Amino acid sequence: MQHSSQPVLRDIVLVGGGHSHVGVLRRFGMKPAPGVRLTLICRDTHTPYSGMLPGYVAGHYDYDDVHIDLRRLAEFAGARFLSSEAVGLDRQAGQVLCSDRPPVPYDRLSINIGSTPQLAGASGASDHAVAVKPIHRFNHRWLALLERVRSATNGLRIAVVGGGAGGVELLLAMQYRLRSEMQARGQNPDRLQFALFTRGQSVLPTHAPNVRQRFARVLAERGVAVHCNAEVTAVEAGGLQTRDGQQHPADEVVWVTRAGGAPWLRDTGLALDDNGFIQVTDTLQTVTDPAVFAAGDIATMINHPREKAGVFAVRQGPPLARNLRFSVEDREPQPYRPQRRWLALISTGDRYAVASRGALGAEGRALWRWKDWIDRRFMARFSDLPPMEESESSGPRSRVALEGEEARQALSAVAMRCGGCGAKVGASTLSRALGALQPVERDDVLIGLHAPDDAAVVRIPPGKALVHTVDFFRAFVDDPYVFGQIAANHALGDIFAMGAEAQTATAVATVPQGLEAKVEDTVYQMMAGALEILNDADCALVGGHTGEGQELALGFAVNGLIDDRAEDIMRKSGMQPGDALVLTKPIGTGTLFAAHARLATRGRWIDGALQSMRQSNREAAGCLHQQGATACTDLTGFGLLGHLVEMTRPSGVDATLELSSLPVLDGAEETVAAGILSSLQPANVRLRRAIRNPGAVKDHPRYPLVFDPQTAGGLLASIPADRADACVRELRSLGYPHTAVIGQVSAQGEGLEPIQLNP
Ligand SMILES: Cc1cc2nc3c(=O)[nH]c(=O)nc-3n(C[C@H](O)[C@H](O)[C@H](O)COP(=O)(O)OP(=O)(O)OC[C@H]3O[C@@H](n4cnc5c(N)ncnc54)[C@H](O)[C@@H]3O)c2cc1C
Repeated sequence: MQHSSQPVLRDIVLVGGGHSHVGVLRRFGMKPAPGVRLTLICRDTHTPYSGMLPGYVAGHYDYDDVHIDLRRLAEFAGARFLSSEAVGLDRQAGQVLCSDRPPVPYDRLSINIGSTPQLAGASGASDHAVAVKPIHRFNHRWLALLERVRSATNGLRIAVVGGGAGGVELLLAMQYRLRSEMQARGQNPDRLQFALFTRGQSVLPTHAPNVRQRFARVLAERGVAVHCNAEVTAVEAGGLQTRDGQQHPADEVVWVTRAGGAPWLRDTGLALDDNGFIQVTDTLQTVTDPAVFAAGDIATMINHPREKAGVFAVRQGPPLARNLRFSVEDREPQPYRPQRRWLALISTGDRYAVASRGALGAEGRALWRWKDWIDRRFMARFSDLPPMEESESSGPRSRVALEGEEARQALSAVAMRCGGCGAKVGASTLSRALGALQPVERDDVLIGLHAPDDAAVVRIPPGKALVHTVDFFRAFVDDPYVFGQIAANHALGDIFAMGAEAQTATAVATVPQGLEAKVEDTVYQMMAGALEILNDADCALVGGHTGEGQELALGFAVNGLIDDRAEDIMRKSGMQPGDALVLTKPIGTGTLFAAHARLATRGRWIDGALQSMRQSNREAAGCLHQQGATACTDLTGFGLLGHLVEMTRPSGVDATLELSSLPVLDGAEETVAAGILSSLQPANVRLRRAIRNPGAVKDHPRYPLVFDPQTAGGLLASIPADRADACVRELRSLGYPHTAVIGQVSAQGEGLEPIQLNP
């Protein structure tokens, strides 16, 4: 997470990680705009580069060759990456509405969400055809089709709907790959039949006649049945129907045509063209609202309409970046005129390409190699990220233009603040942010946020004892909503590990200084995330304190309730020799986030870690308690080994850990192997003196992971050995799929080192 000392004065929000926005992010990464916070909202963490997609399908590239890692690029750009889908705009409030998180405010908005396949025009197509976009769904279906072909004993009929460059290129790539797969398995590739359907009179209607002829020839040579003037009107299981009423059998129907704008744009009030694409001027600002920009397929430049192609989206990146920057600096955005002609290099699947430019056409293997070189060079711009330019000095010298009242606020926001109560975030900011939130209500809360007072008053029901814990840490993710979720989950972990139910929580937070509205939103986003987790745990938020600080940080004091009989409390000290050690979540968060800060992870690894950190330990604790756990703790900062020693010591036992059985987050072994460790690791490594056989395991690739500090980690418990398998099965069925027996407890030996590590 890149920290900026600049107060946030303006928010530029990018919706969609398309070909234009990746260029914007890179440019802002190389030259940050002081006072501007960039936020990317995208439903994909890895966005495909369209030029190489057919090559991926053909098997010439792997997944990472053809996808841009948006999480990593955003990190480089100092931008917040919000993994979500935009579903609407509230332009009056200046907010993007999202499918699964609170609205995201903007000062300037840019939309680059590509086009959406229009399957509604053909009955049954939504259920029985697979659209290439969104790409993650296509990839899933494509991998499933590959598997089917690998195990097929019968023939397969594949129909591609769409005779443009995308459809033809995709068909040829699929055919090349599937035939190669069958040949490699000693199967007859001729059992695969391909058909192309287009409503046009020929394939590639927007290209020159000689290019169309070349492709007609290639398709004929490859035995593809081409159906022109054949608009598909219906798709059903096993086939499709064309407008002339003819039925055509097909086992798989791939849809690469009739794209339009996303349906949710219709309710935004933005002017759209007949296909639902956003109308923009030469500055890439929407004709309706100068604060809203659009680029790529989703935008139609009213003065320069062009084909929907990735090449235009890419070229719009630099002018879009410039105009967004100008716009927040109150400078006049500059017009941009897209080129009229462009070179298209269209591959035929087999490392061979046809070039098309205006009336010109050519073909050959050398053209494919040239295309490959161009495409790889493009992708390298987003994987080999250049060093960043130093940002300019902070505060009032910021180039972002603010006037009048705004300027007064900005200056007071960046003025020196005193400590003590002066460091408190303004009461109205806090109450507005919290006022929009609804903590769960409990009968045992007498005075809480519903009737705020100097302190909360909470009843402890008869027969219950109070379990009390506190946790606090600084944000390690740039999304305050996700950070709030994880901070709350982390704090609740101690309560659940004791076998208690959560009752109430008070929050303490620090928020970097800034404009009141920005601070308010950060508090709101963070507390909305936290509240979602607290409410889910039936834990009432009853109060809190928010102050200004260098960094965003959040913690909770949490009260829990437990039956006051000692046997119901899951302690660290009850381990019995012979018990099995069970761990409910994978480890590796420390190394992964250290690597993320150095741009040395893959976005999907961080997605996996965040998903794990957001998962509550509540149900796992209930299950462990029921299965007769003799001891339990939640894994946090001391790492697996530290927490295990905290259990073996008071229990008076030794333990053995099987390194090969440890559940590990995707990517953690790679980042540890690259020598990237959390800054807390050295303190944890001091505990290696508890290991009986360090010499035997110190070179094991998983050895460093036993010291890796965890955030919102899983539960580590000792379970009577005869119940361990059933317990693991149940935990997996409860949604903890990585649960594993990771070792055993044994009687205390003579030596001073309680832990044996087996490879
Ligand atoms: C098989 C195939 C091959 C092609 N080959 C070429 C080629 O060689 N050259 C070429 O120029 N063009 C090619 N095209 C066309 C090209 O794919 C598109 O023109 C290009 O992808 C458009 O880019 P974009 O930036 O507008 O959006 P996209 O690349 O589609 O990116 C949009 C991004 O926004 C995200 N998104 C969408 N909706 C939302 C939402 N509501 N909230 C948040 N995020 C959202 C998506 O997940 C995606 O990451 C091809 C198309 C196909 C189907």
